[in-house]
Amino acid sequence: MTASQSAMSYYQATANRVVKTHTLSGDVSVDVVVIGAGYTGLSAALELAQAGYKVAVIEAQTVGFGASGRNGGQICTGFSPGQGRLEAQLGKDGARACFGLAEEAKVLIEQRITKHKIDCDLTWGYMHCIPKAHQFGELEAWAADYEALGYGGNILLTKAELETKLGTTIYHGALRESRAGHFHPLNYCLGLADAAIKAGAMIYENAPALELGTGAAPFARTARGKVSAKFMIIGGNAYLGRTVPALYGRVMPVASYIIATEPLGEKRAKALIADNEAVANTNFIVDYYRRSKDHRLLFGGRASYSGMMPANLGEYMRPRMTHVFPQLQDVKIDYAWGGYIAITSNRLPDCGRLSPTVYYAHGYSGQGVALAGLYGKLMAEAVRGTAERFDLMARVKHLPFPGGALRTPLLVAAMAYYRIRDVLS
Ligand SMILES: Cc1cc2nc3c(=O)[nH]c(=O)nc-3n(C[C@H](O)[C@H](O)[C@H](O)COP(=O)(O)OP(=O)(O)OC[C@H]3O[C@@H](n4cnc5c(N)ncnc54)[C@H](O)[C@@H]3O)c2cc1C
Repeated sequence: MTASQSAMSYYQATANRVVKTHTLSGDVSVDVVVIGAGYTGLSAALELAQAGYKVAVIEAQTVGFGASGRNGGQICTGFSPGQGRLEAQLGKDGARACFGLAEEAKVLIEQRITKHKIDCDLTWGYMHCIPKAHQFGELEAWAADYEALGYGGNILLTKAELETKLGTTIYHGALRESRAGHFHPLNYCLGLADAAIKAGAMIYENAPALELGTGAAPFARTARGKVSAKFMIIGGNAYLGRTVPALYGRVMPVASYIIATEPLGEKRAKALIADNEAVANTNFIVDYYRRSKDHRLLFGGRASYSGMMPANLGEYMRPRMTHVFPQLQDVKIDYAWGGYIAITSNRLPDCGRLSPTVYYAHGYSGQGVALAGLYGKLMAEAVRGTAERFDLMARVKHLPFPGGALRTPLLVAAMAYYRIRDVLS
């Protein structure tokens, strides 16, 4: 079983599925065809439909089937590798402008939830925890960098302070952000889809695009009909596979897994994370977790380049969880699922044009909950004729991943290296 075919997730079991999608039948002509009903595609579709464009979204499965309906729900700040790699490519001012856009990404989530009344349990507060005592200096530098970028409201917690907030003794301190947080990712995605439909977009589910025409006259061909358009926006991310050969080598799908415990009751859940923050450690292969509205622990992590789902995912993940919270040994795992993250070689998102009217964005490298919505909006702006912000992000250059037989073995080797680095650093 692959990660994309996992059993029902906690999110599916608690989804507000009221979205009225459409069935494609025959040929259709629109202004913009969007590939993929995740945050990237839906964000673009919403912006464009609101601006009066005739928009069709083609989704291979159902809304939120990809990473947008499966993720940890952690709304993060900035970009996965930090500001350094952006500065190296775009200079200090360019990198600062990118950070500003990433901040806008979080505001965009909040605004859309409010405007479209999306019921998705938005909660602010995020803690980055260090596994080693000597890493405290890195947290101080991180906090100082945020201050220098004008991003305040963060506090450093010593080991003793952190232990009053988290029911574990394994960490040696944390950086607590007040303007990062978490939500129910699938319900947010369904809310975006609903808003896009209400604004006039058509969303065609169960309509895999078998062929994408990415030249001067964009089109998406499905088994049920062809959608022709003036513009195309590609938001297939890790799930696009080889549909667009020019994009295949630009990202690598990496599986990540999440478990949801049985409901623990409010008291026991609060004893794990007192103030209901999203939590992550600072390892390269990260553990990420949070409480759910119904007082479960949702615990994510691990990574696999093979894409194969471990046979008993719940038991595969349990040791990671009980390493952090040994008091959960006796707890039942109600749900376990996986999904694909698209990573780029430098862990910065990749966006650009395949022709003057065909845009793509992908490769948020594990940090797309906020960024994917932003990139969708930037592509919509570009379609509407204002491409400055999209072009800033498109200036980031990426080395493609190797293709052919070397693709997976090289990445498995890289992963092993990072695992060892996490242990030794
Ligand atoms: C397990 C997991 C945990 C994660 N946790 C976090 C987190 O806590 N915080 C964070 O910031 N990020 C996290 N991420 C990453 C984040 O979820 C993604 O970056 C983001 O959701 C990407 O959105 P997207 O719309 O670009 O892609 P997706 O949500 O993957 O959507 C792509 C869609 O395109 C469709 N599609 C693909 N090909 C075709 C085709 N040929 N025809 C039609 N449709 C097609 C797919 O079916 C899919 O629905 C996590 C990801 C995973 C998998």
